[in-house]
Amino acid sequence: MDVSHILNSLNDAQRQAVTAEKGNLLVLAGAGSGKTRVLVHRIAWLIQIEGMAPAGILAVTFTNKAASEMRGRIEMLLGQPIGGMWVGTFHGLAHRLLRTHWQEAGLPEKFQILDSDDQLRLVKRLLHTLDLDEGKWPAKQCQWFINQQKDEGLRSTHLEHYGDDYNRTMLTVYQAYEQACERTGMVDFGELLLRAHELWLKNPGLLDYYQHRFSEILVDEFQDTNAIQYAWLRVLAGKRGHITVVGDDDQSIYGWRGARIENIQQFTRDFAPATLIRLEQNYRSTSTILKAANQLISNNAGRLGKELWTEGAEGEPISVYAAFNEQDEARFMVDQIEQWVRKGRRRDDCVILYRSNAQSRELEEAMLRVGMPYRIYGGFRFYERLEIRNAMAYLRLVANRDDDAAFERVINTPVRGIGNATIENLRIIAREQRVSLWQASQRAVAHGLLGARAAQNVGGFMNLINQLEEYSTEHELHLVVDYAIKQSGLIQHHEKEGGEKANSRLENLEELVNAAKAFAMETNANDSEPSNAERLAGFIDKAALDAGDAQADEHEDAVQMMTLHSAKGLEFPLVFIAGMEEGLFPHKMSADSLEGLEEERRLCYVGITRAMEKLYLCHAESRRLHGEENFSRPSRFIKEVPAELRQEVRMKGQINRATSWHDNAAAQASGAAGSGGGIRLGQRVRHPSFGEGVVLSCEGNGNNARIQINFDAVGGKWLVAAYARLEAL
Ligand code: ATP
Ligand code: MG
Repeated sequence: MDVSHILNSLNDAQRQAVTAEKGNLLVLAGAGSGKTRVLVHRIAWLIQIEGMAPAGILAVTFTNKAASEMRGRIEMLLGQPIGGMWVGTFHGLAHRLLRTHWQEAGLPEKFQILDSDDQLRLVKRLLHTLDLDEGKWPAKQCQWFINQQKDEGLRSTHLEHYGDDYNRTMLTVYQAYEQACERTGMVDFGELLLRAHELWLKNPGLLDYYQHRFSEILVDEFQDTNAIQYAWLRVLAGKRGHITVVGDDDQSIYGWRGARIENIQQFTRDFAPATLIRLEQNYRSTSTILKAANQLISNNAGRLGKELWTEGAEGEPISVYAAFNEQDEARFMVDQIEQWVRKGRRRDDCVILYRSNAQSRELEEAMLRVGMPYRIYGGFRFYERLEIRNAMAYLRLVANRDDDAAFERVINTPVRGIGNATIENLRIIAREQRVSLWQASQRAVAHGLLGARAAQNVGGFMNLINQLEEYSTEHELHLVVDYAIKQSGLIQHHEKEGGEKANSRLENLEELVNAAKAFAMETNANDSEPSNAERLAGFIDKAALDAGDAQADEHEDAVQMMTLHSAKGLEFPLVFIAGMEEGLFPHKMSADSLEGLEEERRLCYVGITRAMEKLYLCHAESRRLHGEENFSRPSRFIKEVPAELRQEVRMKGQINRATSWHDNAAAQASGAAGSGGGIRLGQRVRHPSFGEGVVLSCEGNGNNARIQINFDAVGGKWLVAAYARLEAL
């Protein structure tokens, strides 16, 4: 059989992995070395050469997007569909199993998924019922506790409080939460995994079936599996199954969600005998980008250790842009992309990566201003929610009767006896007379083109909208929203629906009233007093923007935007990393512990290694975030990229600023933290008054060298190295 198309364009190590005899296999390799490619080719190999049925294969990827890409690539290699094969994320696969075997899993047939916002609201309600003070026991913290336990595979019955007040309270909340979910048939994300695991344990017959069926299991991004996912795989693979995993310890970025790098080390023990294959050639990036990534990540301790090389060109230096503020930063990136497009390149090839979702707003506005198409990945946002979209549709009709999309959305939501036939009639009239649905309705009612009942109901709907408008001219925005959600019947509709999901929809609608209040306050602070109609229009725009309605169509050539976390596994010729500032990236939540900091550094490594040709690192000297102005120093990660690989960019007309810190960058690692003082990053030290701690970072050199230390007793502190009287331990 001709297998050249599967084996061509693989290097020796890759080919070895693809053609390895059936058994357990671990491919451990750095970014862009072809791990995902190996998985795809191995699956094709198993089907074509080993003669396996696609249905016998289970592949796990990290995102749904990756899953559909993987399927596409395999089908391309094989030239045939692989319908029966299961490809998906852990959550997606667990969901599929539970939908099929809901009875065995002890779930109601129509169980509902609780997303993270829903979950938080439920926890809040429970705290209230339990009479716990939210000030003392923040809902977020309880939610986090619950998810953490589930990720470890622990139910409340598995836990002890050992008389500890904190544990006792958390446990009480967890128990109440479990009961509420059980009672209402709700399943959160962690529960999907936990139930799917229990499904195996409680139903040996079922497990046996799937063990026979999936004799080959393949997992991408293995470094980010958590305890419960690992356990699930282990049980499924059983004694007979074979499992191939690929991963990179340097790209483990979900420790905060329970991912365990140790799973990689444990793999060769738990799945013995297992073959280990390393890939060392990078095919993705220029040598400049690769060197930068290698250097950056070498600041982490306890790595499994690997060095990547490339035959690729040196490429351009890495550009660093110091912006005045976030607007300047956004404008700069948009400018660079415009130049790129002028050179005949595609927008699709550009990505802007950021640490926090909140950063996307400014970028979107900058793109909208110049009419640059863009697309944002990930993040299910408030204004995307069904109930919010419905409520907004009423407001949109108030602002503009000819908004057909809004009309279609709510003419019969909630149900008001306007059937499909009537709506279809209205569409026909609108099309024939070239008018909006609203105008069509007016004519239909006026000229008796509808049945009596339909005419009455359509008329009622139109009255409702007119009434809302009248109200809106005389009342504040949040009152208008409140009036709209009540008069439209949306509130009553969800109240009748009942259940946990409905509760959370009701709360979201209340939240919309708050959002309107906040919006009105903002606009009052900014501008001259806008009219009620202007304010309503502004609010509608804001919602559209937040819901991603301004985004490019699926097939349009558009700039990509996403968080660093969701960029895992992807690659782009042109990459911008925005917001490279201390406090933002590394994020302040993670910067106080060495593990947290190292995870942020891995995230930066992921970001840098997405770039194929050109990389920009941007930071702003001042930035407004969550309503506050912040002045931050540039991220230490910029300085961890060797100075000779970096180049500072300036925009025309930009005021010169001191660049000294950039040039000190190289000295930073070798200066204060160098061998001279015997102090290095990650080192344990003792301070005469603060006690023992760990060195988190160093800056500057000579007499100005500063060291950040996380002290066991007093937390993070910056000290001047020359005066710190530190003792290395
Ligand atoms: P990541 O760690 O970021 O997920 P990866 O190890 O999965 O990266 P791939 O995405 O599989 O790497 O491959 C990176 C790029 O290199 C892809 O564009 C891929 O097509 C290309 N590539 C991999 N191996 C080869 C090869 N032998 N010849 C040519 N191109 C290759
Ligand atoms: Mg990959």
